[in-house]
Amino acid sequence: MFKLACGDVMPGCSARFEHRDRGDLLGQVAAHAASAHGIADITPEIFAAVDSKIAYAA
Ligand SMILES: [Zn+2]
Repeated sequence: MFKLACGDVMPGCSARFEHRDRGDLLGQVAAHAASAHGIADITPEIFAAVDSKIAYAA
């Protein structure tokens, strides 16, 4: 499972995500970023920050 703790990118946020598919995980995170953080556009900088925090655990 690919896993991401939003708080690693957005300090103070307790949302956590996990998905078997990395792309679907990023989709969940993008939807959360828009609804919870008002980030409508995932810029390359944000994407890189998120991508670097994704952990994988079987
Ligand atoms: Zn969050």
